[in-house]
Amino acid sequence: MSDCPACANARAHPRSGIFQMGCSGCAARSIASMPTFFNAAKEGRFTPEYRGVLHQLLPKMTQAEAHGLVRSWTDQKARA
Ligand SMILES: [Zn+2]
Repeated sequence: MSDCPACANARAHPRSGIFQMGCSGCAARSIASMPTFFNAAKEGRFTPEYRGVLHQLLPKMTQAEAHGLVRSWTDQKARA
């Protein structure tokens, strides 16, 4: 993952809410803040809506890779 300023800032300030177009880290971070993700996490499965968002915002990644990246941000938030 290329290191973009918005992601670097988010690591220091998880609630910054700054996103850069074309950055997979930023896309994953935006997904992590979506109700779609909360619903999928609550149900413990890939809901059709969540699958759709992963595919739309992280089209170059497999579902597992994209989900892992989203989780890396939610885990980070949990530690913060
Ligand atoms: Zn970024």
